[in-house]
Amino acid sequence: MKTNQTIFLLKTLLLVGLYAPFSAHSKNKNELSTHSKAKKSLKVFIDPGHGGKDPGAYVDGIKESKVTLKTSLLLKEELLSIGFDVKLSRETDSESVPLRSRVEKANKWKADLVLSIHANSSTHKQLRGAEFFIDLPFKPNKEDYDEILSTEHSQRMSLRWSAVEEELLSIKSKSKKASVATLNKIDQFEKSHLLAQSLSSFWEVHKLPSGKRKDLIFTSPLFMLKHSPIPTVLIELGYLSHPIEQQMLLSEDEQRKFAKKISKGLLSFLDKYSLK
Ligand SMILES: [Zn+2]
Repeated sequence: MKTNQTIFLLKTLLLVGLYAPFSAHSKNKNELSTHSKAKKSLKVFIDPGHGGKDPGAYVDGIKESKVTLKTSLLLKEELLSIGFDVKLSRETDSESVPLRSRVEKANKWKADLVLSIHANSSTHKQLRGAEFFIDLPFKPNKEDYDEILSTEHSQRMSLRWSAVEEELLSIKSKSKKASVATLNKIDQFEKSHLLAQSLSSFWEVHKLPSGKRKDLIFTSPLFMLKHSPIPTVLIELGYLSHPIEQQMLLSEDEQRKFAKKISKGLLSFLDKYSLK
């Protein structure tokens, strides 16, 4: 993600708690599936962010698009080795693939879920840590915000998770009036949230420069999230602008570790929920 995009996003971010309000899904035995059954048929669409004319974040001569592609290719290798079916939105760094084409490719292929891989950047050099983005299926009210965490260059709006739950229950209770599109969007959100929780459980939690705990899951109306009809999570692996994380993002060993953590997260997700 580019710095200016990041600042814009941080201004509009809605912080979502890490609690699991959707445990009802995992309690439904009919929806549970074994690894082996799910693995055989799961189609994972990996989207290495940016590419071609769009390098994404550009820090110390490093293009985000190269980092996302290398990590995505290692992730593909990892997921193929454990039996998933995998497709990438781009396989080279010379390709410019518009966001709409990426969503269309995933849909045409009939993917079960989408993982969009990115690396972050900020003018605030202290910011670090992975971030997992999903799209909220409704526009929250101002009073739903819990607090605004201010950092030197950005603001993060923290959303009360209970408010999200209340809003979803309210929409569901009026389900006769709710459009099919709305109900599908809620279903997709619940699955994406569970996927983001499963993935992020393998990542370290860092602190904000203020000393407060930095959350791992955020919501944002990013194009790939908003326009994908299937469970979709955008993963910011870390900050290219943070000296330690920059070295990690460039290291093949660390990129393999990212791929391993993502595959563990996917298996953990499948333990809780079957997409089929
Ligand atoms: Zn990016």
